Amino acid sequence: MTDSKQRSIVATVTANFGENFSVLTEQGDSLRCFARKSLEGTVAGDRVLVDEQQRVILKRLKRDNVFERPNDFGKVKSVVANIDQAFVVFASEPEFSCLLLDRYLVALHQKKIQPILLLNKTDLIDEDSRDTIEAICALYESLGYPLIKLSAKTEQSLKPLQPLLAEKNSVFLGQSGVGKSSIINQLLPEAKQLVNTVSEGSKLGQHTTTTSQLFALESSGFLVDSPGIRDFLLWHINDLAVAEAYPEIVEQAQFCRFRNCRHQNEPNCAVKQAVENGEIATSRWESFQKIQQEIQTSKHNKLW
Ligand code: GDP
Ligand code: ZN
Repeated sequence: MTDSKQRSIVATVTANFGENFSVLTEQGDSLRCFARKSLEGTVAGDRVLVDEQQRVILKRLKRDNVFERPNDFGKVKSVVANIDQAFVVFASEPEFSCLLLDRYLVALHQKKIQPILLLNKTDLIDEDSRDTIEAICALYESLGYPLIKLSAKTEQSLKPLQPLLAEKNSVFLGQSGVGKSSIINQLLPEAKQLVNTVSEGSKLGQHTTTTSQLFALESSGFLVDSPGIRDFLLWHINDLAVAEAYPEIVEQAQFCRFRNCRHQNEPNCAVKQAVENGEIATSRWESFQKIQQEIQTSKHNKLW
């Protein structure tokens, strides 16, 4: 009997409201569903099998990656899953921090998420700031990172971003004040604000600030707005993986005398040599050391 036969379809979770979830089907329909108890920890970005008639999430499909953070009880809590790429936003103001940018790059590398650098506020670049900002852009471009320059204040300026967003789950990172919200707000008129639509007329919407939300773009990609990601990117990273996130260190490390060289006090370290003769930028070398220290210290304090 076809009527009683379960019809399951694939959908993406756009928000987890605790007792129920909003999901977006591959056909573009937004549904509210309950989940079986065994699906605890299912978060925005998860792809799931849904019984369309019963409105129940049956199964979570395999994840590419998941962002986690500690909850109040020191346990791991998933925040958002299946992120494809991260736009790391920076600007001439607030003052650029190489350490902060590199921290994001290390964390993204660890999660195998493609970073795309976004220089925002190009309208504010003047004679005083031009050389510095151009040197920063040249450095990261030379390391192979894709970089886009734009201004959220200028109409049309976000055009180069649109094709990159299509069919991808994207997240925006960067220090407070660089213009993430301004960029997202400009992009969102084109997006269906799914969470708000789904929760309209119910109390559910009131909880949305504490959960991750996916915003569907017309081009079928997603934007994720999640404070959890912004704050906890470097959580429980492996300190040995830090060097692997620095392409220039990886390149030089093959010439170090010892294969397991940590580029500290070992003799014949090609990395330290490259720092000394300027082949590796001082700012990058300093951030590399600082990030390693941070990870060791916090491990010691059992934070991660
Ligand atoms: P967020 O903290 O990263 O989300 O940053 P906001 O989007 O809140 O922006 C911080 C401030 O920078 C606001 O006053 C924005 O109006 C301003 N802002 C954002 N983008 C630009 C830009 O491209 N040019 C200029 N001049 N100001 C911008
Ligand atoms: Zn070395």
